[in-house]
Amino acid sequence: MTDTRDLRFIVIGAGMAGILSAIKLLEAGRNNLRVYEKAAKVGGTWRENTYPGLTCDVAAHAYTYSFEPNPEWSQYLAPGPEIQQYFERTAKKYGLDDYIRYDREITRCEFKEGQWKLETANGDHDYADVIIAATGVLHRPRFPSLKGLDTFRGALFHSARWDHEVALDDKRIGVIGSGSTGVQIISALSERAQKLTHFQRSAQWIMPVENPAFTEEQKAAFRNDPELLRHMQNEPTYSAAVDRFNHAIANPDSPEMHEIEAWVLQNLEDSVADPVLKEKLRPGYRAACKRLIYSPDYYQAIQRPNVFLETENIECIEENGIRTADGVLHALDVIVLATGFHAHAFMRPMQIVGRNNRSLDDTWAEGPRAYLSISMPDFPNFFMLNGPNGPVGNFSLIEIAEHQWHYIEQLIELIEGGECSHINTSQKAQDTFETARVAAAKQTIFGSGCQSWYLDDKGIPATWPWDRARFFEEMEEPDLQAYDMTC
Ligand code: NAP
Repeated sequence: MTDTRDLRFIVIGAGMAGILSAIKLLEAGRNNLRVYEKAAKVGGTWRENTYPGLTCDVAAHAYTYSFEPNPEWSQYLAPGPEIQQYFERTAKKYGLDDYIRYDREITRCEFKEGQWKLETANGDHDYADVIIAATGVLHRPRFPSLKGLDTFRGALFHSARWDHEVALDDKRIGVIGSGSTGVQIISALSERAQKLTHFQRSAQWIMPVENPAFTEEQKAAFRNDPELLRHMQNEPTYSAAVDRFNHAIANPDSPEMHEIEAWVLQNLEDSVADPVLKEKLRPGYRAACKRLIYSPDYYQAIQRPNVFLETENIECIEENGIRTADGVLHALDVIVLATGFHAHAFMRPMQIVGRNNRSLDDTWAEGPRAYLSISMPDFPNFFMLNGPNGPVGNFSLIEIAEHQWHYIEQLIELIEGGECSHINTSQKAQDTFETARVAAAKQTIFGSGCQSWYLDDKGIPATWPWDRARFFEEMEEPDLQAYDMTC
């Protein structure tokens, strides 16, 4: 039996989920805690992404910890730097600096003699009874395998590695990629570039959204009225819309999905004047098959006289620009690769070795999987937040992580209470879960016939495939039949 006072917790990553875990652990008095962060500050994806136009397309008051509402959000959809400041401020307020080791990248975790042994890239060693992997999802930039990528004489960088030394005003800029990132960059640069070319391999459905600023009066009201602020976090119209959206994802033939399809189609029909451009922007797959883009201004931006949509395939990159398959050289000063991320890396390249010398790479040879995205057989007391095949879509991952934490905390309490010293899901529970998940995932809108980062290498959506309500129910209380416990 483990002596509860001696349990040592290690949180890997000080992004949104790592900050949450550390705050919750400390709040419960679990202060034998260390948070390892590979970078020099907190923030995760909001620290790494600094591209012009970065905005969270989830309502700001919903993209907020439930215990730390923020009356100061400037807009309905918060700009990235404001979100980064929110995380920095929150980490400071809860005293996390005393617990975080910055510039320490964990390279290896090995389960040995009942404990996890950890190593960092700097050669530091540590140990843990419980590991919380809060390493995020989209953190390894994906560079396209385009010929000549290293021959370009101008500035070229990935959207998540923005080079702020590079001048943008009045330059000829090419942006490759039309996911949520590429679309936001085009909107932001359309008024700054001399000539902006958007290289689109696949068109995207776009949901219109308004993004009004909160007035000083509104912010004062939020500051002075905690009930009003709480109401904003769980605003009923927004929550109902998120529920409808989630129902639609899981049920592609539902009226809710047909409603989404009608909206995005109407948006395209109403917003784009030129019939040729309109056809170039019309996707050949169903709405929300790729992550749906919410944009207040992309269609306006792409119709500006200095902005061009290029749908020819990219042949190669040359010294002076991008050559498309029709032989045209698009002369450029700057190329931005908004080409996404290796979405299935999760904790890797960290080496993780569980019980019986079982490595994570071997365990995930067929693709990342975990029971309810949280626990894996043979990886005792190792819990993930926003792990593989979890809920993803156009909603707040903070809310998802808080529910996951509620669940994980109950597993921790079992260890602390002496019910067991080690706990992990059983192989049988994971296999049963995964079989049901895959069958349901194929039926979701993500599996309806398009390419996206939601799909695994077999083309199966690597996502939570059921309604949100079912996810919340699962997170209420662990079913201990699904776990192997050892003392
Ligand atoms: P993404 O959705 O994976 O989009 C990558 C884009 O690059 C796609 O348009 C893809 O085309 C294109 N591409 C990739 N390789 C290419 C190549 N060799 N040649 C031409 N085009 C190529 O990546 P992302 O836009 O960075 O977004 C990733 C995720 O980050 C989002 O889905 C979202 O979850 C998150 N995000 C969220 C927000 C927010 O507001 N909450 C904002 C930004 C990002 P194909 O479609 O043809 O593959």
